[in-house]
Amino acid sequence: MDFSLSDEERAIRDTARQFIAKEVMPLEAEVLRRERKGQKGLERGELVELRQKAKKFGYWGLGTPEQYGGMELPALMQSLIWTEVGRTYVPFSFGGEADNILYYANEEQKREFLLPTIEGDRISCFAITEPGAGSDAANIKLSARQDGDDWVLNGEKTFITNGNDADFCIVVAVTDKEKGVRGGGTTAFLVDRSMGWRSEVIETMGDARPASLIFDDVRVPARNILGEIGQGFELGMKWIGRGRYLIPSAALGSAERALGMAIEYANTRETFGRKIGENQAIQWMIADSEVELEAARWLILRAAWTVDQDLDPRHASSMAKLYGGGMVNRVIDRVMQIHGGMGYTRELPIERWYRAVRLIRIYEGTDEMQRLIISRDLLRGYTKIGGHLA
Ligand SMILES: Cc1cc2nc3c(=O)[nH]c(=O)nc-3n(C[C@H](O)[C@H](O)[C@H](O)COP(=O)(O)OP(=O)(O)OC[C@H]3O[C@@H](n4cnc5c(N)ncnc54)[C@H](O)[C@@H]3O)c2cc1C
Repeated sequence: MDFSLSDEERAIRDTARQFIAKEVMPLEAEVLRRERKGQKGLERGELVELRQKAKKFGYWGLGTPEQYGGMELPALMQSLIWTEVGRTYVPFSFGGEADNILYYANEEQKREFLLPTIEGDRISCFAITEPGAGSDAANIKLSARQDGDDWVLNGEKTFITNGNDADFCIVVAVTDKEKGVRGGGTTAFLVDRSMGWRSEVIETMGDARPASLIFDDVRVPARNILGEIGQGFELGMKWIGRGRYLIPSAALGSAERALGMAIEYANTRETFGRKIGENQAIQWMIADSEVELEAARWLILRAAWTVDQDLDPRHASSMAKLYGGGMVNRVIDRVMQIHGGMGYTRELPIERWYRAVRLIRIYEGTDEMQRLIISRDLLRGYTKIGGHLA
């Protein structure tokens, strides 16, 4: 069993690390200042400029197939790079990517939706959640009724990331009530904003600003069906599956960076005539954080490895997201505790991380849903205790 990185893997990871340190982290103070005035941390133009700079270093489309100009990196490498991205709280990600399910588009749709999304000329959003259907995604009600060559969409989606900025939305709608959501009764549609859906921002405790999308008799031509009629829910689950190892990968970077800050503070801050790091209470918080961080790292990398082996990654990814999300929340909480009153101020970014990482336990499958998946796999015998080593 080899836990090391090859020279090439290390070089790709380290160059990404340098890029984040040199080009992105210097923007942190300005991002905090803007966000605290209620503005966006990074304007669209600034993000595009950063992405273009990264492209010059070869970082473009981490998971995008080479035929579309991407790096087509294995999931494991993508995970390692997302950990580097997670080290900064600047809302940055490498460019050249599109939603994984846009590759189910036909050639004409690829030209209209996939390629401009990869290039960054169009912004997409993905919508399955509704006011009455979150964890229970199979309870969606937004309907699509066929009318001649068109489909007419009615209903509401909620909590949609990028929903207020998107040029088009990938919407999962009910097309056949009789068949039901799990029985092939849903379909995914590519719906331009110009077709008439409206969005309303939802303010949150973090910097995420998802939106509600309102579909009021929105007419969509049949040529905008993504994949097959009846394939909507399946595509939706594929979209969500990708985040389940990438989200904790980024969280790992945040936890590492924050723990580094806590160690530095513990080595400099003095109380009662000695460094606070000389107290066992502080030492244990640091030790527990490091252990949990490492445990999360290997769960995440195993989930990514499972994707690369073409094995079903669901079980491993659920464990990575459940544990990684809990880990980063516990680590940031300890980092704040170690910083005392300073940790609670807005002079440091810890409170920002504290608010931001809470989301990880909620979106793209709550903690409870991950537990449901993990336990059901075991109870029904789909997975053995010990996974692929069993
Ligand atoms: C910032 C943000 C961005 C998002 N982005 C997107 C997006 O881009 N696209 C999209 O489609 N959705 C998005 N979502 C929606 C997100 O995936 C849902 O909020 C999430 O799945 C939970 O659904 P819910 O909010 O309806 O909670 P509910 O399903 O109502 O759950 C409420 C609570 O009950 C628990 N619970 C529910 N059922 C059970 C059960 N059977 N057993 C035990 N506990 C249970 C849940 O775990 C949770 O703790 C986003 C959400 C947020 C907050």
